[in-house]
Amino acid sequence: EKINIGWNFDNSYARLPESLFTRLKPAPVRLPKLIILNDALATSLGLNSQALQSIEGVNVLAGNEVPEGTVSLAQAYAGHQFGHFTMLGDGRAVLLGEQITPSGARVDIQLKGAGRTPYSRGGDGRAALGPMLREYIISEAMHSLGIPTTRSLSVATSSDSVIRENEQQGAILTRIAASHLRVGTFQYAAAWGTIEDLRALADYTLQRHYSEADTDTDMNRYFILLREVINRQAELIAKWQLVGFIHGVMNTDNMALSGETIDYGPCAFMDVFDPETVFSSIDHQGRYAYRNQPGIAAWNLARFAETLLPLLHDDQAQAIKIAEEAIEDFKEIFYRSWLSGMRAKLGIFNEEHQDGSLIDGLLELMHKYRADYTNTFRALTLEELEDSDLFETPEFNQWHELWQVRLGRQKESKDASQQLMRSSNPAIIPRNHRVEEALEAAVNEGDFSVMERLLGVLSNPYAYASDQDDYSTLPAVSSIPYQTFCGT
Ligand code: AMP
Ligand code: MG
Ligand code: MG
Repeated sequence: EKINIGWNFDNSYARLPESLFTRLKPAPVRLPKLIILNDALATSLGLNSQALQSIEGVNVLAGNEVPEGTVSLAQAYAGHQFGHFTMLGDGRAVLLGEQITPSGARVDIQLKGAGRTPYSRGGDGRAALGPMLREYIISEAMHSLGIPTTRSLSVATSSDSVIRENEQQGAILTRIAASHLRVGTFQYAAAWGTIEDLRALADYTLQRHYSEADTDTDMNRYFILLREVINRQAELIAKWQLVGFIHGVMNTDNMALSGETIDYGPCAFMDVFDPETVFSSIDHQGRYAYRNQPGIAAWNLARFAETLLPLLHDDQAQAIKIAEEAIEDFKEIFYRSWLSGMRAKLGIFNEEHQDGSLIDGLLELMHKYRADYTNTFRALTLEELEDSDLFETPEFNQWHELWQVRLGRQKESKDASQQLMRSSNPAIIPRNHRVEEALEAAVNEGDFSVMERLLGVLSNPYAYASDQDDYSTLPAVSSIPYQTFCGT
C-alpha cells in the first residue's frame, strides 16, 4: 500500500506576471539515490520521511518526477556580482512550488542542480555532490545557531557525473526557503519589466513576508517594504558578525528579501579574529571580507531601494530622498542589534554608555594576539582562561578586571550572567577542517558517518558537553590559509 508523502502545494509565484519566470520541469537524472534526508525538517513541513525514502519520494527529490499540484518553474533575476550588474536567474534550480505546512506556513521547495534552464547561460545546470553537502551542513548549522536561513531537506545523487576541474558525482539539493525573492528579483523587474510587473512583485513580497507591518494605510506601502527589508537584513548581518560567519559572495542576487541567509557557496566561519578575513578564492579585492559585510549589505539595500523609486513617490526627487533616509538607518539598526548581541556574549544584561568600548577593547586584543573568535568567548563563558596567548597578557588581565567590575554593576547574579553567555556563545561551530573532513569521507570514500556525526554535534551548538570538546579544537597550524571555492 502506498504511503502518502504529504505534499500540499500552492503555486502563488506562478500567478505573478509571466516575465518573472519560466515554467519548466527538472531534468531527470540516472540512478537517483537519496544520500541524506532531514527527518525533523520533513516532519515540520508535513512530509512523511518514510515515504520520502520510497522510490516515488526519491524520484521527486532527484527531479525525475514532479508531485501532483506543482507548477514548477525557474525564476528570473538579475544582480550585481562583485559590483557588476548582469542578467542571471535560476540557472540550475527549479522551484517545485510552495508547500503549505501543517502550521500554515508557506515555504518554497526548490531543487538545486536540477538541470539547464533558459537562465543557465554557459552552465550545465548541475551541481556536484561536495558543494551540495557543504550547503546542507552549513545551512543546518546556521539554523541551529538561531540564524535565519534557508534549510536543506535532502541531497540526492545521480550516476551522472559533472565536469568541474575534475569529474565529480552529480547531486541535487532540496532547498527550503521562506521564499527565493531576492534583491536581484527586483533589479530584474525594474530593469526589464513594466511598472505593473514591479508593483505586482512588491505587493507579492509585502503579502508574503511583511503583512504584519503592512497595516498603516497612511504610509506608502513600498516605503514599509523597504524599511522592513532593511530591518531584517540589519538584524541578519549582526547575527553573522556575532558568530564570525563570512558569507563570501554577497552579490545582490544572493540577498533574500525574507531576511534569510541564502546561497552557501564559498562561505566559512572565521577562526582567528581578523576583520580582514576572506576565504573565497575568487574574492581577490576582499570585497566580501568579514569587516565589509555590514557595508556591503547597506550597498545591496541601496540597489534594492533604487528599484523601488518609481513606487515610493510620484516626484522622483522626493523618492530619492525617502530612499536615502531609509538606507541611512541601516547602520544604526545594525549597530544596535550587534551591540545587544555582544552584551549578551559577555553576560551583560543592562546598557551602559561605555559597553561599546569595553567590547572593542576585547576585540582589539583578540586581533592583536590572533585569538580564535569562537573559542575566546567559549573560554570566557567557561572561565577557563588557558590555551591561548591572549589570556597570558597583562593587557588581557586589565581588560578582564574592567569586565568583572562592569558585571558587578548589574543586578543580575553571576549565575544568570553565565547562563546568558552559554546561550549566546556557541561551543561548537562548523570548523573548516571538520567540514572538509566530513566532505572528504563522503565524496571520496562514500562514508557518510563522519558527516552524520558532525551534523549531530552541530545541531546543538550551545551545549557545552565535554565529550564534544574535540569539535572545538583548532586545526593543526598550516602555512596555507584556508580557501573556499565557489560552490558548484
Ligand atoms: P551563485 O554564484 O551561486 O549565486 O550563482 C550565480 C548564477 O550562476 C546564478 O544565476 C546561478 O543559477 C548560476 N549558476 C551557477 N552554477 C550554475 C551551473 N552549473 N549551471 C547553470 N547556471 C549556474
Ligand atoms: Mg546565487
Ligand atoms: Mg551558489
